[in-house]
Amino acid sequence: MAVSGRGPYDPQNVFAKILRGEIPCRKIYENEYALAFHDIAPQAPVHVLVIPKGPYVSFADFSQTADEAEIAGFTRAVGHVAASLGLEEDGYRLLANMGVAAGQEVPHFHVHLFGGAALGPMLH
Ligand code: 5GP
Repeated sequence: MAVSGRGPYDPQNVFAKILRGEIPCRKIYENEYALAFHDIAPQAPVHVLVIPKGPYVSFADFSQTADEAEIAGFTRAVGHVAASLGLEEDGYRLLANMGVAAGQEVPHFHVHLFGGAALGPMLH
């Protein structure tokens, strides 16, 4: 079910549990500010989620309240993962669902990274 993308932050959301190690994930990369792992229900040959380690509900929350170091660390993690997976030559897609209209399901900010195939005009 889609979530609002506005607070308060729910520490029981599934990505919070992944960050705490309470639920397993197929980890790809981690730095001080971000964790990247494979989506459990991939919609492309490569479908990775990158999440900040801080408690941000959505892109709106992250972009407006995270500090510069967190934003930089997260952004660099996304770029590093895309490059390390060999996606730069053929290209890739980044997507962030914010709130109900976009169909955001997990209330912890995340970026979807899609690649490994020619992607259609839209991919949710
Ligand atoms: P949203 O619709 O919130 O942008 O996307 C949430 C994404 O999280 C979906 O693509 C869904 O497959 C993925 N997801 C949901 N639960 C889990 C989980 O427990 N582990 C992993 N790796 N991905 C999950």
